[in-house]
Order: sequence, then structure tokens, then C-alpha cells
Amino acid sequence: MRIESIRPVAVDRYLFVQVRTDDGIVGLGEASAWAHHPETAEAIRSIAEALEGEDPRLIERHWQFLHRAAHFRGAVLGAAIGAIDIALWDIAGQQLGVPIHALLGGAIRDRARVYAHVWGSARDELVSGIEDAVARGYTAVGHLSPFSDGDVVTPTSASPTRRVAEAIDAVRAFRTAAGESVDLCVEVHRRMTFAEALQFLHGIQDLRPMFVEDPLTHDNIDEMADLAARTTVPMATGERFTSIWDFQMLLRRRGAEYLRPDPGLLGGITGLHKVAVLAEANHAGLVPHNPMGPVITAASLHVAASSAAFSIQEYPEHQTGADYFASPPASEIVEGATPPVAGFLEVPRTPGLGVRLRPDAADRFPARRRPLRSRRFDDGGIAEL
Ligand SMILES: [Mg+2]
Repeated sequence: MRIESIRPVAVDRYLFVQVRTDDGIVGLGEASAWAHHPETAEAIRSIAEALEGEDPRLIERHWQFLHRAAHFRGAVLGAAIGAIDIALWDIAGQQLGVPIHALLGGAIRDRARVYAHVWGSARDELVSGIEDAVARGYTAVGHLSPFSDGDVVTPTSASPTRRVAEAIDAVRAFRTAAGESVDLCVEVHRRMTFAEALQFLHGIQDLRPMFVEDPLTHDNIDEMADLAARTTVPMATGERFTSIWDFQMLLRRRGAEYLRPDPGLLGGITGLHKVAVLAEANHAGLVPHNPMGPVITAASLHVAASSAAFSIQEYPEHQTGADYFASPPASEIVEGATPPVAGFLEVPRTPGLGVRLRPDAADRFPARRRPLRSRRFDDGGIAEL
């Protein structure tokens, strides 16, 4: 079997890749560097020149080659390699007639617990989103930003006192909305200084979040480790990491209890599986990152099914509206996607990934590019997005 073509396919706010073989199998992958889809598509075309004609089943060999061939790494290359890697696993599963998790040792669970990725630009929207998700059976809710999340035009306060107070109040409102027994996955989006994060974590420890994700930027693992050592609140990070070695360093320094690898950024199912093994060996929880499309959901689900370290999976529900993140239901983009039931996704049973791109998806939902933008502090300075 040979790879005949590798082609990026932009659909709505997603970037997929289709890998076709000479015997007619089509593997599907997805990239997660969402601010840089055009650049990722170009990287996919460039990699295609090297892989066309190769045996698609030599997945680890291709993974090693692509990580070492030209010495450069990062988000765009990680996304391109990740998307192609997912498609190669899809091909292997389809050819052998088994779901991908069967190639990773088999499923150790029947269902994967998910948290509802609650969308909302203001606190009242998040609170009603939490109430709605819990009413529909979710036992965990996440993507809960303690700061305003959607409107980047209104400046954000540069006062640490105001910012910390606002953030603690927000988490209190999330806990009240969710009730006492629902897991809260709080997401700070890298918007705190070390000093703010320290005070914030101290202020919310009695509210028992399952974890707080990315209070700090991901530039400095030492800083994350310092913060984690000073709080009883579990920490989560890793959605921007582009290599398994970032996770190894994080674990070695005990920078987080929960790991957030994204297969569309970290070398696909191969990369996610390797981080799952690292997590298991370090008693860390695996929480695959996924604000993206139905292919990332499916790819993550196969690793979730086969990993003892799996904790919970982010699940982006269909969102309507004019915001960039609004998107069509997964079922209109792919065949085979099933929504969660009572907060769990069923482990796929069909060969390969279990989802196929609908032939008319790209025509029905033309590509949309996310505009580059930033937040501002009230003094005019640039804040983390
Ligand atoms: Mg995040």
C-alpha cells in the first residue's frame, strides 16, 4: 500500500487533511493550530512531497522522520505532522478492519467521560451555560474563564486587586451554578501574573475546582512548578505544547497534575499516546485538549479508550451565533460523530477513526480564517488573548 496524495481541506473554522492510498482508502486528520490554518496547510503540502509514495502503515517511522528531517519544530509543523499522523492511524485501522484503539492495546473502558466546553463571553452566559449542561446530564463543565472571554474591544483592568477579586467571584458563581458535586474545569487562558495566580488560587481552594488551567503563560515550566508547589488546587496545562519533551519536563518538575495535550498540535495520535504513557508513569491525569472539530474529538477518544491515565475529555458543543467559534454541528461535517449521552462519549467500534468527512462539507461550509487580534489593558497595553 502506498500514499497517493496528501491534501489539506479547509472547512468552516477547521483544517482537515485527507490522505489517499493507491488502494482507495482515505484517511482523515485534523490540525489544531487554529490561528494559523493557512500556514499549516502549506506545511502539509510541503510534507506531502516527502511522504507520497511511502507505505502509510509505517506510522512511527514517518513520525520520527518528520520530527527530525529538518530540525525545526513548533506549532505549525506540529499541527501539520499531527493532522497527517491521525490520518495514517485512520488508514491503518480501516485496512485492518479495527478501531484505532485496538491498535493501541484495546479499549480499557466502554465510555469516555467528557466535560462540556461551555461557550460564553460574559459571566452570566457562562453561568447559564453551566446550568444548561448540568441539566442535560453533564457531570463536569469546563472552559470556564474567570475573566470576560469574548469581547476583546472592552479593555481589561490592569489592577491586580480588581482582577483577582473578579476572578474569585467568578469561580464562586460557577460553583453555585454547578452545584456541589459537578467538576469545574477553570480556564484562565494565561491571563495572570504569578502574583495574581497565587492569590487567586488561595481564594478559590474552598470551591474545589477539578483543576485550574493555564493561569500563567506556557513559556516557563519552572514558574508553573513553583506555582503548583504553593497551592492545593490541581493545575492543568499543555494545550500549546508542541513536543512530548515539554510534557516530560513538566512532569519531572511537577508543574501540573493534569496534562492537556492536543493531538492536532503534538504529533497526532502517536504524540498523544506517548504523553498518555508519560502521564500514567507519573500518576498524572490525561485531559485531551479539544476546542476544535470532530476529528480531534475522535482521535482523542481512541487514546482515551486505551489509556489508564485518561481522566476526562474536553468536548466542544455546537455553538451558534456570529462569533468566530460558532460552527455547524459535527454531524453536518462528518459522518459517524455521535454526541455525548449523560456526559459520556461512547468508544468507537467501527474501523479506523470512526468518522468520515462528508463529501459536501467544504462546499457547504467555506473556510473561515480567525482574524489576528489582541486584548488591551485599560492603560492601552497588550493583554494575553
Ligand atoms: Mg485551554
